[in-house]
Amino acid sequence: LDTDRHYAVWEDPFPKPCYLFALVAGQLVSIDDEFITRSGRRVELKIFVEEINKNKCGHAMRSLKKAMRWDEDVFGLEYDLDNFMIVAVDDFNMGAMENKGLNIFNAKYVLSSPETATDQDYLGIEGVIAHEYFHNWTGNRVTCRDWFQLSLKEGLTVFRDQEFSADMNSRPVQRIDDVRVLKNFQFKEDAGPMAHPVRPDSYLEINNFYTATVYNKGAEVIRMMHTILGAQNFRKGMDVYFARHDGQAVTCDDFVAAMSDASGIDLDQFKNWYSQAGTPTLQVKGEWDEHHAQYRLAVRQSCPDTPGQKEKKKQPFHLPLCVGLLGSDGRDLLSHEQEGSAVLQLRETEQLFVFPEIKEKPVVSFLRDFSAPVKVMSFQSQAELAFLMRYDTNLYNRWDAAARLACEVILETAEQLARKEPPVLDQHYLDAVAHSVGREVEDPAMLALSLTLPSEATLAQEMAIIDPDTLHQARQLVKKELARRNHDAFVLLYEKNRQGGEYGITPAEIGRRSLKNVSLSYLMALDPLPDETLGLCYGQYRHATNMTDCIAALANIVDLERSVRKEVLEDFYAKWAHDPLVLDKWFTLQAMSNLPSTLKEVEHLIKNPSFSMNNPNRVRALIGTFCTSNHFCFHEKSGAGYRFLADMIAGLNAINPQIAARLVAPLINWQRYEPERQGLMRNELNRIASIKNLSRDVYEIVNKSR
Ligand SMILES: [Zn+2]
Repeated sequence: LDTDRHYAVWEDPFPKPCYLFALVAGQLVSIDDEFITRSGRRVELKIFVEEINKNKCGHAMRSLKKAMRWDEDVFGLEYDLDNFMIVAVDDFNMGAMENKGLNIFNAKYVLSSPETATDQDYLGIEGVIAHEYFHNWTGNRVTCRDWFQLSLKEGLTVFRDQEFSADMNSRPVQRIDDVRVLKNFQFKEDAGPMAHPVRPDSYLEINNFYTATVYNKGAEVIRMMHTILGAQNFRKGMDVYFARHDGQAVTCDDFVAAMSDASGIDLDQFKNWYSQAGTPTLQVKGEWDEHHAQYRLAVRQSCPDTPGQKEKKKQPFHLPLCVGLLGSDGRDLLSHEQEGSAVLQLRETEQLFVFPEIKEKPVVSFLRDFSAPVKVMSFQSQAELAFLMRYDTNLYNRWDAAARLACEVILETAEQLARKEPPVLDQHYLDAVAHSVGREVEDPAMLALSLTLPSEATLAQEMAIIDPDTLHQARQLVKKELARRNHDAFVLLYEKNRQGGEYGITPAEIGRRSLKNVSLSYLMALDPLPDETLGLCYGQYRHATNMTDCIAALANIVDLERSVRKEVLEDFYAKWAHDPLVLDKWFTLQAMSNLPSTLKEVEHLIKNPSFSMNNPNRVRALIGTFCTSNHFCFHEKSGAGYRFLADMIAGLNAINPQIAARLVAPLINWQRYEPERQGLMRNELNRIASIKNLSRDVYEIVNKSR
């Protein structure tokens, strides 16, 4: 209008709800590209960033174009406007927001270069860019009638971005990552005082319901429909959904009705997944009848009490069970079925499934690809799990067997330590690990995943009464023992998977880097630590050509009480203090350290001039990481970790109530811990409740948890 003022006209012919309007003003530059839709329309693409970040948008732009093409190919969904814009900002509470035609992003999910971003960062960018883009149809063109229906758009869009990432990268690796997130966060949520259905009945503050249940369990619910209907019928259902509801604000029931009508499959009972909270538990009994050459599988389901919902009143769920049977040579006995698996429909509280013509005693590969979000009570021997770990033809289940076996071995070790007995590790497990590291590697990414021990936070959920010290000790002991027994194999794996040349983010290269770095972490667990191993790790830090290798080396060094620790941390800081996203990693690494001095250091880092309570990424990197991901140090038995967290929440309550409320989570499952820690955790919840001018966000969570 004049020198200081501008105006813009935005024309969008499609109806949309008010939460999708956005306007951005600032000193920004754009990188530009274009996309030709399958009907031949030209769409102008722009990513807006600060000038300094101009060269870090290439991967985000490529990801956007891949997502646009994928949605056309898989769902027949084309972009509808003439331009699509993304803006990256440094201070943002969420990952990103799907405002129509103008997606607003946390810079963490846009900016990358090999020197500054890890492989996980690259994959995260690809996934979040796709997620927000996919909302254009699932969320924007068809939106939610009310916030209780949040999963209508989030569960569906998470499912879509997971499928996209599986198609772009490695499907089994993607599935394992998704299930790990679900078990780590959603299962915990479902077992605690904040448990709620995928479609919640009530809320005080909707910001508190952008949860793992609404997002990740919501995606599992969609995935189960996909499994029950099959890919073709699912696609038909999506077509019906858009044909019926384009331009409308609808409900989860409307979505299920479209799926049911398109396929002719009754999904009435299936809808219990939307109304009942809690993670169902399955009890399984398998029996081979030699005389009739039959294998019989008896499955019983139950779902625990959750706030406001009693177990007795819950109805049985309808869920798909993907099952395989393996012969003694590792061959699938159900070869006539799809990829050697059968999809069983569990609808009753107790149900018996009979497989005819099974002429030898099989080993059952149960719940392949994690076909339903349930807990399966242990029903197989360690010998059977070791067999599955070696031979299962379903790669997800091969990994799952390794994870279950590792979990059992670590928990047994913890029990032995608690009884002050000398720990004895299960021989089947030791043999299976030795076998997998000692031969020609077919799939480095899968091997790296099967060698990664479950986190302490995941293991804790399996303990009757959580004792963080013994758990930590047991996990360390198992890792050291595996390192000692397989030293030469790990050295070989490390050397073989070193790569020279240009950095690439193909699944094969990511897989090799992760196997190399997992091998390094075992070698660094050796006790005593040989100088040459430390030298290897230090050398990797010094000569790394990418952030993945650099961070992997540092993550080992921060657990050491040696002078080299201070040296590399100072070096990293000096090099990267100017780059906020890389500096976040520096804070995160120190918050993750096993050393007993970690809390003291975190308190010290709060005073670092680069730390700010006003920046959500920084708060998450330091305070969030320490309290949610450093199980051992946060739960230190004096309760100092709990006091620290309550103090931080008191400060953040006034500055950023949304982030403050999310930080309460590590305290709310207090009932699961031993009595002394229970008392200490409750004290801090009470102290948070007494904060003056407590925000509604924090109040809701604390009040439900005390
Ligand atoms: Zn979303």
